[in-house]
Amino acid sequence: MMNVFDNILDLIGSTPLVKLNTVTKEIPATVYAKLESFNPGHSTKDRIALHIIEAAERKGILKPGSTIVETTSGNTGFSIAMVGIIKGYRCILAVSDKTKPEKIAYLKALGAIVYICPASVLADDPRSYYEVAKRVAAETPDSIYINQYFNQLNPEAHYLSTGPEIWSQTKGKITHLFACCGTGGTLSGSAKFLKEQNPDIKVIGVDADGSILKTYHETGEIHPDEIHSYQIEGLGKNLIPGALLFEQIDEFVRVNDENAAHTTREIALKEGIMGGYTTGAVMQALKQYSEMYEFSKNDRVVLIFPDHGSRYITKVYNDEWMQSQGFMANDIQKDDEIFVTEFAE
Ligand code: PMP
Repeated sequence: MMNVFDNILDLIGSTPLVKLNTVTKEIPATVYAKLESFNPGHSTKDRIALHIIEAAERKGILKPGSTIVETTSGNTGFSIAMVGIIKGYRCILAVSDKTKPEKIAYLKALGAIVYICPASVLADDPRSYYEVAKRVAAETPDSIYINQYFNQLNPEAHYLSTGPEIWSQTKGKITHLFACCGTGGTLSGSAKFLKEQNPDIKVIGVDADGSILKTYHETGEIHPDEIHSYQIEGLGKNLIPGALLFEQIDEFVRVNDENAAHTTREIALKEGIMGGYTTGAVMQALKQYSEMYEFSKNDRVVLIFPDHGSRYITKVYNDEWMQSQGFMANDIQKDDEIFVTEFAE
């Protein structure tokens, strides 16, 4: 029987788990992908947006016409804006002026008010997007600041939904969980639930080359010399997110821009799954991990694929962008684009 839903928010969660068949052929384990792009806002962030907003409603902080504030140019902004529409809240997002115009258009199409703040100032400058968001939230009555990097409701959303879904979809047979860490909410919240069911499940976090999470996990220290800019959006951080429950994570694997970009495209070509850049990152982490760790045929590995590739058409899926990064030769012979200039009889 086909289901009918009351509104778009009823479609959040219960995302499919799909076996990967070709991209994983060197790995003896069975590998599944949890496709978070099947959420209505096309990413894992729908779960935290709904959970945090509904928690504020239960506490009576949000009423119709209230305002939701966050600093994001990415998936969390799209999800908050979508939830805000259905529930009748204003949504104010502070983003940096490095944000691509199509993303700002996307947020505005969902009714968000967007503050564009200079990226070149320090985090504590009153013009920075952190400070702007904090000020707007403080000055706006009946508002909440989502604060996804430090809000414990972020991992809790995954503890209550993503983790139990994976446990039930694998019938409790999962042995390894891999996910990218930005705020860390997706991985550590899911992991907390799964480890309560079976403490032997191995939890592997994916970090970016240029981020501090892996070293912090291993040493408890921040090494500023490791921080550099990188292209993968939503992965890694230059601060320690309070939402990341480090004790739930066994190990981190660090991936670089180039490998993750190629693997993103490989998944599209081999599995027909158009994932975002971090979809490639998590698969790339599995490849690197499998060089150090011997999987057995009884292992059941779950990778969380966070969002949809349509958001990256001008980036990893674009040959010119790949060339501009030095990830593809400029003189590459293209045989997938055929210009028809005349018709032959
Ligand atoms: N991938 C993408 C594309 C994201 O936007 C995010 C969120 N920053 C993540 C992965 C990581 O998710 P989390 O913040 O829950 O660690």
